Amino acid sequence: MALSVVDLYRDVLAKTNCRDCGFPTCLAFAGKVVSEKHPLRDCPHIPSDLLIRCEIELAEQYAKGKWLKRDMAADALQWAKSKAALLAVDDLPARIGGELIQVGTQTALLLPYFNSYLHVAGTTVIRSDGGELTRYEQVFILNHLAQGGSSQPSGRWKGFVEFPNTVSKMVSMKSAVEDPLIGRFSGRKEELQKRALALGALPMPTNEGSADVAVIFTPLPRVPVALLFWDAAPGDDAQAQAKLMFDQTVIEHLDIESIVFLSERLRQLLCD
Ligand code: SF4
Repeated sequence: MALSVVDLYRDVLAKTNCRDCGFPTCLAFAGKVVSEKHPLRDCPHIPSDLLIRCEIELAEQYAKGKWLKRDMAADALQWAKSKAALLAVDDLPARIGGELIQVGTQTALLLPYFNSYLHVAGTTVIRSDGGELTRYEQVFILNHLAQGGSSQPSGRWKGFVEFPNTVSKMVSMKSAVEDPLIGRFSGRKEELQKRALALGALPMPTNEGSADVAVIFTPLPRVPVALLFWDAAPGDDAQAQAKLMFDQTVIEHLDIESIVFLSERLRQLLCD
């Protein structure tokens, strides 16, 4: 028998909303347990025999995927891997840059990535410095391998909204990239500049909007990303602003979703 959110709330939890589990209500906790595998034992008010019975039932329903929230990152990664699996490694340097190297008997691509390198062999992508790649990072890198055309950056910059089919992603770009950058670096433009340079960014040759920080990152050889940041002036009511710009060729190299994933990763690297 499976345990639904209602079953858990009605038959298992104390319904006191005491917050000892870190959630504001018993119902919110039950939802996390059922749909996201949050540990039931984080509620300390369940008798141990009942807890064990419930954990067994939950393990069975998790194994069947019942009521589990869909793992979007896993879906996206699987899709990107299936596309990248069809690729011939030999034509990658001409299309997306990097160089071919021999790793044992296998030919791999050594691809610059921010201020480091990636090793790409088949659908396996690892960082040469041993650091971990997030699943979303793997998704946009694999999509770039599969989709990347051979165009070099044109030097003509566009805001995200100027590309086709971006309307539905504008909210993500604002809430997951621009707003956190503003929150983190408002009043700290020097720190932002320093962190950007440490990530391999170069000052933007033209700074037509007179931004306080105007830098160009090269996360991937054919995919430059510019960051413009206007800090809040002391005593001024105007808020800081942040904007990412992309070369107009970017849509030959990444789909719109992958541009958002790349932007989120850049924001993480700058903020964390
Ligand atoms: S600790 Fe248990 S009883 Fe308290 S709010 Fe969380 S689920 Fe409800």
